[in-house]
Amino acid sequence: MTNTFSNYKLLEMLNKKRTILYLGIIFIIIIWLVNIKKRDAAQYQALNEALKQTRHQLKIQTDSYNVLKERFESICDKWKPNEPIVYAITPTYKRPVQRAELTRLSNTFRLVNNFHWIVVEDAESKSTLVANLLLKSHLNYTHLSIATPAEWKRQLKEPKWKKPRGVKQRNIALEWLRTERARKEHDGIVYFADDDNTYSVDLFDEIRVVKGVGVWPVGLVGGLLVEKPLTDINGKVIGWNSAWRPERPFPVDMAGFAINLNVLRKHPNAAFSWTVSRGFQESAILSQVVTLEQLEPLADNCTKVYVWHTRTEEPVLKAEEKLKNRGLRSDMNIEV
Ligand code: UDP
Ligand code: MN
Repeated sequence: MTNTFSNYKLLEMLNKKRTILYLGIIFIIIIWLVNIKKRDAAQYQALNEALKQTRHQLKIQTDSYNVLKERFESICDKWKPNEPIVYAITPTYKRPVQRAELTRLSNTFRLVNNFHWIVVEDAESKSTLVANLLLKSHLNYTHLSIATPAEWKRQLKEPKWKKPRGVKQRNIALEWLRTERARKEHDGIVYFADDDNTYSVDLFDEIRVVKGVGVWPVGLVGGLLVEKPLTDINGKVIGWNSAWRPERPFPVDMAGFAINLNVLRKHPNAAFSWTVSRGFQESAILSQVVTLEQLEPLADNCTKVYVWHTRTEEPVLKAEEKLKNRGLRSDMNIEV
């Protein structure tokens, strides 16, 4: 009896222990499940966040892919395999109208076949403003930068004409062409396209036929409505109608001529210079590569105007100063 009793007690104890054990196990399983659920929720949250990030990244990449695609399509559309390339060299510098000027130019250049734009910033390094503009330009381009040395930089209030402009910028573009387009198979013509002039699309059909050095009229320059080469009955250039410093060897504006790449390759040192007198930059380079007799008169025997030496008025930004005094600017986070 005692034995049975103690056996029963023992059994009861064992059962209790087992129940406690089972309850314990169930409890642990529940805790474990709850934790897994929690872990899952956190994991899903993290995944969701990652998905958002991925979508965002994808959008950025798709946008830049589309910009590239549009640019490449545009360049291919304008590619004529049997025509030479026009290399337009544009020196440019930071100022309130810079983006407007370059936009105007790029919109014109977009209409031109076989066009390569060499944009050289007068700055220590390339700016994102110009880089962004070029990326979206639909154009084939090369972006360079070189700063004008301090002693040649125009001082505040100093008149524009005091110092030569764009000298270093045009020269490194010429260097770039001589190294990157060194081979004879690179057929091209070089034109100096300042960022404030106005260019007709027709001008580029003239530039494209230049074998040596071509010249044509330029509107609104040198105190004249049109400054132009004068030709004889044989269609040879015999001089210019220039009124300003007519004694210059080549009294022509930067916008009034183009040089074939072959000529530049034949004269590897031809360049612009600081040492020449005011207004003699054009003469400086042309004297090194061509004679008057060799010039090719274009634009219908120099009777048409396809380029204008326009100048953009400097905008008055007085209200901007007021904003700046309050630590604000109107162009915060926006390229103007
Ligand atoms: N330029 C430059 N740095 C300067 C001033 C001018 O790179 O400090 C560029 C300008 O953007 C233009 C070219 O040089 O493409 C000629 O300058 P600008 O039009 O002022 O000269 P202008 O028409 O009076 O001869
Ligand atoms: Mn100008």
